[in-house]
Amino acid sequence: MAGPLKTEAIVLRSIRYGEADRILHLYTPTHGRLSAIAKGARRARSRFGARLEPFFYVQALLHESRSDLLTVTGVDTIAAYPALRDHAATLDAAARACDAVTRLFETSDPHPEVFRLLANELALLHADAAQARTANGLSFRLKLLLAAGIVPQLAACAVCGETEHLQGFSGAAGGVVCSLCEAAAFPLEEDAYRFLVGALGAPLAQAPDGAERTLRQVERAIGEIAEHHAHVRLRPLLAA
Ligand SMILES: [Zn+2]
Repeated sequence: MAGPLKTEAIVLRSIRYGEADRILHLYTPTHGRLSAIAKGARRARSRFGARLEPFFYVQALLHESRSDLLTVTGVDTIAAYPALRDHAATLDAAARACDAVTRLFETSDPHPEVFRLLANELALLHADAAQARTANGLSFRLKLLLAAGIVPQLAACAVCGETEHLQGFSGAAGGVVCSLCEAAAFPLEEDAYRFLVGALGAPLAQAPDGAERTLRQVERAIGEIAEHHAHVRLRPLLAA
């Protein structure tokens, strides 16, 4: 990186550091995930104000310093999403969304679509607290898998290509499997299959819903894909 970097960023985490500083994990459209230090950010009269709290969507000015951390020299708020801080459920959903991005996209590789997806999710949670539901969280994760290039195969058996009798899901195979190939699979019912197809095809705000049994199968499918193909464990959305 030559010279200062002016970039949009979403604050994924904000960690207290030293006497008055904060270390930030930022997600950016063109530089992926970055870490930066905001010196003096916790002082009462900090020029950063409250703009470096988690979930803030900001315009940040970052400078390279001698350490591998960038230094925040300026920050303007683009969106604060204040209403998502009003409810425990929306706060929790926002934290889980940021956590899933952190785990699946930990490098500085650019994924502008992930940035937009996260900004959309935060805006949705701010605008409508009812979106803080499991189905929305699962839809968000499915779209993250798509951006990571590990979307589950749903159109045909992931092992043999058969398009009929798709009744299992195998994370190792990478998607749905037919009745003949289901050795390492778990049963995936029609409703869960419909959810996977529907959630990938619909905007976040119109994520399909489902019974708990259905959502559990969907969560297991997403979890297995992330584990087998990105070596990432996602935090559970549904209690065991
Ligand atoms: Zn098969």
